[in-house]
Amino acid sequence: MSKVEERKSEFEAKLKTYVGLPDGPVTVGRDPVNETMIRHWCEAMGDTNPVYVDAAAALAHGFEGLVAPPTMLQAWILPGYEMHDRSTMQSENKQLELHSLFDAEGYTGVVATNTEQEYTRYLRPGEEVHAETHIESISEQKTTGLGVGYFIVTRTLFTNQEGDDLGWMTFRVLKFRPSQPAAAADAEAAPAKPSRIKSPRGFDNAWWWEGIDEGRLLIQACNDCGALRHPPRPVCGACHSSEWGSIEASGRGTVHSYTVLYHPPIPGYDLPLPVALVDLEEGTRVVANLKGVPPDEIEIGMPVQCRVEDADETMKLPFFHPAAD
Ligand code: ZN
Repeated sequence: MSKVEERKSEFEAKLKTYVGLPDGPVTVGRDPVNETMIRHWCEAMGDTNPVYVDAAAALAHGFEGLVAPPTMLQAWILPGYEMHDRSTMQSENKQLELHSLFDAEGYTGVVATNTEQEYTRYLRPGEEVHAETHIESISEQKTTGLGVGYFIVTRTLFTNQEGDDLGWMTFRVLKFRPSQPAAAADAEAAPAKPSRIKSPRGFDNAWWWEGIDEGRLLIQACNDCGALRHPPRPVCGACHSSEWGSIEASGRGTVHSYTVLYHPPIPGYDLPLPVALVDLEEGTRVVANLKGVPPDEIEIGMPVQCRVEDADETMKLPFFHPAAD
């Protein structure tokens, strides 16, 4: 037996010791079955069956009062936000222990594959739901599209506070070794460079971006008092008129202020990325990227010229370049 095979068979022997173990103490639902949660569930699921929310309708259908949707069974015992922080969960949870064992062998991936549920009867408000989960089986090693791994099945039995059978659920996950992408095996298969963040086009500013699409840098102008304004907005700050048009900027301006992004990398952007606040000669300011000048040579007050250029394959943007002398 090779070293690798030896290690695998040791690992699988260890896995077998978990089959049949309870994953921890019996879970008791945080709240008894109650009308409020039932109503929220029905609203969220779009379930309009009246027997879940209307006692009279439930009586008319032969129930003793309103009942919970059977599919809520697991909802009654979910631990809520506690699930986000494993350190607060029971330290003796065998399922978590088992997952750690897989992680240590490189089976770090986990994906839920399927669940089966069976409901014995309807639940009534006031009942407490108890759940006991066992590790039911661990498969042989399997090769899947995600990578090599093992399927783990747990079975949960649901009862009420008196031990009445309410139903059961199985849950299957795959713990797997993520397949390594073939490094640079096929350059054509490599993802294309991501595009930049798309311009935010709303009701009040889409026209400005459409101007950029056409290669024009526009400035909004009040139709009543003539005041210019940027960024676009519906009302003139000077005379409160909502009548407006636009003029086309010359693109000549000076750097009012600037910053240079070095970190963190953002998909679609090349760093370092100089971003300038430019005073346009018409009197408004605009924020845009600065091109054609090394970051350490940018100066406040330097004359710049706007050119509308392709930012990537999907969009145009205004860029400012040092103005030709
Ligand atoms: Zn105005």
